[in-house]
Amino acid sequence: RLSISPLKKINKTINSYALSKNKEIETLQKNAAFRREFIADISHELKTPIFAAQGYIHTLLDGAVEDKSVRLKFLKRAAKSLNALDKLVQDLLTLNQMESGVIKFHFEAFDLKEVIHEVIEELEHKASKRDMLIRFYYDKEKQYHTFADKDKIFRVCQNLISNAIKYNHDGGEVEVHLKAHKGQKLTVEVKDNGKGIPPEDLKRIFERFYRVEKSRSREKGGTGLGLAIVKHILEGHKSKISVSSTLGKGSIFSFELPAEK
Ligand code: ADP
Repeated sequence: RLSISPLKKINKTINSYALSKNKEIETLQKNAAFRREFIADISHELKTPIFAAQGYIHTLLDGAVEDKSVRLKFLKRAAKSLNALDKLVQDLLTLNQMESGVIKFHFEAFDLKEVIHEVIEELEHKASKRDMLIRFYYDKEKQYHTFADKDKIFRVCQNLISNAIKYNHDGGEVEVHLKAHKGQKLTVEVKDNGKGIPPEDLKRIFERFYRVEKSRSREKGGTGLGLAIVKHILEGHKSKISVSSTLGKGSIFSFELPAEK
């Protein structure tokens, strides 16, 4: 006795084929929509610094160049816009290479404490210009070796600490806490007492180009890509970035890495 008649079998095959084709079309449509949205976002982001630089240069060409103080001010502003454009293109390339899997991770053993020290040293100047100190807390008795991609983890720490400075008020506090948990894992916490992030924005700040305050981010040289890059790097380490924030009090960004024995 046949449990399924041949006709039923054919019908079933056709149905499942149609279903899989429908799914394929749906995925293709979604990809096309995603690509269109991405290109629209990029074009908009690129236009902003280009328009700004063009504006300053045209004003100079239209006569402002005669006045020495105006000349210097406008040239500095044009240069700032071009630097922002350069950073944006570099961040876009990095993100694109990460998303397409072109960027390889190079894992090695290193001292995470030293990497954080280097990042702080690099950012100290930026902080002191705004009356801030970056405080680094760790236990001198403990080991903080990990096995990870050193350059990329440098980048993660650099993005988080520089955000804690950027989105803080002058004279604000920035703290970095490095902790070792029973020789199993290490955690890094970057804390600021800036204005915090509204709950409705918290989930979205890791999306490319998402900013809570667009003008503030741009004015501070932000591309809106930093946290998207951080998220990708940590995913490449099978880790993730966590955030908690209280409006008016500040934010804490944290992540984990394995401890290297
Ligand atoms: P950006 O280049 O704009 O700094 P990011 O991807 O690093 O981009 O961050 C995305 C947005 O998240 C920022 O524009 C800012 O609005 C918000 N943000 C990030 N870090 C903090 C922080 N420590 N405090 C307050 N807001 C922050």
